[in-house]
Amino acid sequence: MSAAAPEAIAQTIHQIRQTLPDRVRLMAVTKQVSPDAMRAAYAAGIRDFGESRLQEAIAKQAELQDLSDVTWHLIGHLQSNKAAKVLDHFHWIHSVDSLKLAQRLNQLAGDRPTRPRVCLQVKILPDPNKFGWTVPELLADLPLLDDCQHLDIVGLMTIPPYGLNPDVTKSVFLQTRELAEKIRHQTLKTIRMEELSMGMSEDYPLAVEAGATIIRLGRVLFGERTAI
Ligand SMILES: *Cc1c(COP(=O)(O)O)cnc(C)c1O
Repeated sequence: MSAAAPEAIAQTIHQIRQTLPDRVRLMAVTKQVSPDAMRAAYAAGIRDFGESRLQEAIAKQAELQDLSDVTWHLIGHLQSNKAAKVLDHFHWIHSVDSLKLAQRLNQLAGDRPTRPRVCLQVKILPDPNKFGWTVPELLADLPLLDDCQHLDIVGLMTIPPYGLNPDVTKSVFLQTRELAEKIRHQTLKTIRMEELSMGMSEDYPLAVEAGATIIRLGRVLFGERTAI
């Protein structure tokens, strides 16, 4: 499979939309995707774009300035030294993966007019290739995260380890949802737990069944990425 044509992109988006409950927001993951293909997705109704890298996103945002009602989502690991720039360029950050990063973003967000929306990235199963909190680590950090009043912490994000069988993948999504419910039952000042950012091309139907509110789809919409 290679880069999909504009008509194919639109058709896939319409087909997938028909299978999704109303609560699910369809984010188009556009890392390594051209601005033209992004315009095709926009024309098909996409208003949420997810990018992994700051520099790539900035370049595309400049080319797509006329699409003024797009919500930009950062989904890749973020280094603290880039936090200010990220706040300038993204509405949502799904990949907040440490207390230190959350506190840095909170400090910077205090000087800004709008609070960035944040998802906390969790690892339900051990995965040396991924960033994020383990469940006990996240529960331990919650009180200090809840002090980050300049962040709008709206939910959890997870990426299951690659190559699990579907039952295990589904159980990762269900455990993420249960964790969000457990956190919601705690008395917290600022943290809301309304969003579950989970599900990618290979596994999104399972994530939707488990309660995802935002799915992040790249290859299924745009074709295989070619390394750049
Ligand atoms: C690349 C990426 C996606 C999309 O993956 P596909 O397999 O192309 O759908 C979703 N989430 C994150 C965090 C990603 O890095």
